[in-house]
Amino acid sequence: MELLENVKPHVYKFGDKKADGNREMKNLLGGKGANLAEMSSIGIPVPPGFTITTEVCTAYNTLGKEAVLDLIKNEVEASIANIENLMGTEFGNKENPLLISVRSGARVSMPGMMDTVLNLGINDEVVLGLAKKTNNEQFAWDSYRRFIQMYGGVVLGMKSQSKEDIDPFEEIIEHLKEKRGIKLDTEFTVQDLKDLVYDFKDIVKKTTGHIFPTNPWDQLWGAIIAVFDSWNGDRAIYYRSMNGYPADWGTAVNVQAMVYGNMGDNSGTGVCFTRDAGTGENIFNGEYLINAQGEDVVAGVRTPQQITKIGSQRWAELAQIDEAERKELYPSLEELMPSIFKELNKYQDILEKHYRDMQDMEFTIQDGKLWILQTRNGKRTGAAMVKIAMDLLKEGLINEKEALLQIEPNKLDELLHPVFNPQALKRAHVIAQGLPASPGAATGKIVFFADEADKYKSSILVRIETSPEDLEGMNIAKGILTARGGMTSHAAVVARGMGKCCVSGAGALKIDYKKRTLTVNGHEYHEGDWISLNGSTGNIIEGKVATMEPELSGEFAEVMKLADKYGKIKVRTNADTPKDAKVARNFGAQGIGLARTEHMFFEVDRIKAMREMILAETVKGRKHALEELLPMQRADFEGLFESMGGSAVTIRLLDPPLHEFVPHQLATQKELAEDMHITLQAVKNKVAELEEFNPMLGHRGCRLGNTYPEITEMQTRAIIEAALNLKERGIICKPEIMVPLVGTVKEFEAQEQIIRSTASTIFEERNDTIEYLVGTMIEIPRATLIADLIAEKADFFSFGTNDLTQMTFGYSRDDAGKFLPIYIEKGILKVDPFEVLDQEGVGQLIKIGTERGRSTKPNLKVGICGEHGGEPSSIEFCYNTGLDYVSCSPYRVPIARLVSAQAAIKTTL
Ligand code: ADP
Ligand code: MG
Ligand code: MG
Repeated sequence: MELLENVKPHVYKFGDKKADGNREMKNLLGGKGANLAEMSSIGIPVPPGFTITTEVCTAYNTLGKEAVLDLIKNEVEASIANIENLMGTEFGNKENPLLISVRSGARVSMPGMMDTVLNLGINDEVVLGLAKKTNNEQFAWDSYRRFIQMYGGVVLGMKSQSKEDIDPFEEIIEHLKEKRGIKLDTEFTVQDLKDLVYDFKDIVKKTTGHIFPTNPWDQLWGAIIAVFDSWNGDRAIYYRSMNGYPADWGTAVNVQAMVYGNMGDNSGTGVCFTRDAGTGENIFNGEYLINAQGEDVVAGVRTPQQITKIGSQRWAELAQIDEAERKELYPSLEELMPSIFKELNKYQDILEKHYRDMQDMEFTIQDGKLWILQTRNGKRTGAAMVKIAMDLLKEGLINEKEALLQIEPNKLDELLHPVFNPQALKRAHVIAQGLPASPGAATGKIVFFADEADKYKSSILVRIETSPEDLEGMNIAKGILTARGGMTSHAAVVARGMGKCCVSGAGALKIDYKKRTLTVNGHEYHEGDWISLNGSTGNIIEGKVATMEPELSGEFAEVMKLADKYGKIKVRTNADTPKDAKVARNFGAQGIGLARTEHMFFEVDRIKAMREMILAETVKGRKHALEELLPMQRADFEGLFESMGGSAVTIRLLDPPLHEFVPHQLATQKELAEDMHITLQAVKNKVAELEEFNPMLGHRGCRLGNTYPEITEMQTRAIIEAALNLKERGIICKPEIMVPLVGTVKEFEAQEQIIRSTASTIFEERNDTIEYLVGTMIEIPRATLIADLIAEKADFFSFGTNDLTQMTFGYSRDDAGKFLPIYIEKGILKVDPFEVLDQEGVGQLIKIGTERGRSTKPNLKVGICGEHGGEPSSIEFCYNTGLDYVSCSPYRVPIARLVSAQAAIKTTL
């Protein structure tokens, strides 16, 4: 802590075209703070302010409130004085007051996950001064009531307690609106606003037992601490765990002079995007509201208006509003305030060029003057991400390497999900239309509450509007539908970030939470009814609509082509069936890195033969059963080889404990006994005999092949004969036979010997040969240590990192669910090592295994076939460790191809 105290400032100022910080300092200043500083220094009009660093937040978590306030007090006071100087106002002054906002901002943007307080510094006296100075009582009292509401919620914890509850302040507002017969906040009279302030303070007193804090400095310290606390709020924690962000990052706090969008008809506030965040189209777009503040635009209470005229016209068409009505009631900013629009358009252009990426900006117009309040690289869908990167490349704003690095590998996943079948869409019954807020195809059963999204396997969350509390449910649901809110509503922004299909602002929907019904044009739908959403058109469709596999085309194909130009480490797939193999090949897999043979045994006709094999008491009995299995396996392998068109296929010999194959239900046991002409008891005995205390450490892997060599023999025969059969048909394939779970040299040698002699026998029988490899999976820690000895005989290694992780940590994969989540929550582990390769520990073994293996056989082929083969940071590690290929599930192949390129590019930077 001492270091922190002596060396670094805790507070960084910005404003007046200057700044202490810059865009590179996201980790310290948070994304919002770093970009406010950057904008200020390049001359964008940003209200002056300062940023308290994320390090202070981390310090707060250990030192507590008093100590941390001591730490920053002087710097904060000096920085407030700086704002006062620049604004010509004074914090707490009754005639000429400075009001400020206190805003959260982590190093990555977490929209709506943490808290912000606006209009801070106001009290019973300041409000009068503000009214007098601006000659606008309406505005002053509106700001005051907003402040109490936000401060009450954020700092004093006065939020709705349960999902049926509404926010206690909103309840008072609703009450008053009803009494006055009005609909909008903007319709309140000065007296109404004064009444609200009175009632708000009253309910604060009643709920908290304290009077509402009147001293601006007390308000400020309270708000700063509350922002720090919001880093550990439920929403923020969930968001972090969803995205794998560590708890120790902390949030910065931005304190900034208020600019007022609620000063009347010459004021307003809005958000805008330099390109379309849904489709990636290069069109400036956004939404605004006149006489509004802060979150009004995204809160979905009033219908926001479009920034550009063209956007406004598109919107009106979807909302079925005619041109005359649009111009009259919902004009664009371009039409209403042409010079402000021109200025905004200029800034969006400057900022996009400056950041060389699509920007998402917030602005406020105070009495005819434009202020920019935030810019960040905009969240976007996977499709938009790909299009924007390729467009920026074509526009010459970025180069090929930068374009590839700009694409977030995991987000490509969205482009690999099913889309609606166009034929089925033609027959679909469209019941209503909303805004196409986030593209995609979603089908599911209606649920009305976020915490019930897991009620059905596929659900569509239907809400009047969503709030940050709904995050978890939004993530679970297949799609999101809201009755209110525009393209920048909470639902829309979050859904695009998640790549989740969303239709927002469908005004024709009447939603009754109590009755759990959705009514459209007189037709009532209930919880559990099927509906479908087309996030690209905004169509809401009754019932289910058939989907189909997406295609790798257009810009996506361009990205993949570019990736292959730079990628070095090869990408294979884990596939057990020709169907999976074909999918993977379409996605660009360069071979199969892992074909598990056991899955082939579970099909109805095979499982019987398999069980007979297991139950056989003699070698002869076993061989007989294996003979039945041989033709089936051979046909399977032919299918696999054929589907890969001759590229490499690695086949793993039988791996799982035999117990997994025997029947555990009485009826099936009886059936088996009859088929085999043995007693039920004999079957039961065998099943009991196969039971193991630690099946994962038991009779499995090459231990099976070494105790029942007939199995290895049969599998080898099936593989080699399949390859020979294909050769006859003109398809040359080179099987790679992989021995699982090797821990000692002899274990491998014994298997290798069986394989090679079986192959030789077949070559003689057929009077023909093919090339093949014999290698091993490296998944037992011991094997990595003696890799030099294993490599004397093995043609290749493939790291089976699922088992290797299990055995290196000593965590049973099947039982880890009991403690891993807690470990991650407590920070004992940063991430789940079964998802993200543990480079520190398991990674060392991979390095050692590779090095030692290659010390014997310099060009030993080495790959990885655990789940990690499709995880970006793990792929990068594999590349840097010198592996030849990664193997992952078919749908991860494009992701792995991209990461392969990114990893190679990063080493050249
Ligand atoms: P979030 O990170 O959730 O977007 P922000 O800190 O950006 O939260 O603020 C919430 C809203 O308040 C935004 O619409 C923002 O533009 C507005 N706002 C923040 N600070 C000010 C300010 N100083 N003057 C006017 N509006 C502000
Ligand atoms: Mg913001
Ligand atoms: Mg294994």
